[in-house]
Amino acid sequence: MSDKEKHLCKLKDPIKEDFEQYRQLVRNAKFVCMKCGRAAHDERHLCKPVVLEP
Ligand SMILES: [Zn+2]
Repeated sequence: MSDKEKHLCKLKDPIKEDFEQYRQLVRNAKFVCMKCGRAAHDERHLCKPVVLEP
């Protein structure tokens, strides 16, 4: 799996698929996906990102 542009929302089970990478992506999360409820520090990893704290 390539890392930089990974779409968390497309992973059915990110913890099982690649936990180490998932940990990096969700650490210090700044965005949450309004569609999937996933969180990430980079909006590029979410399909419908919304800023957690403006
Ligand atoms: Zn999503």
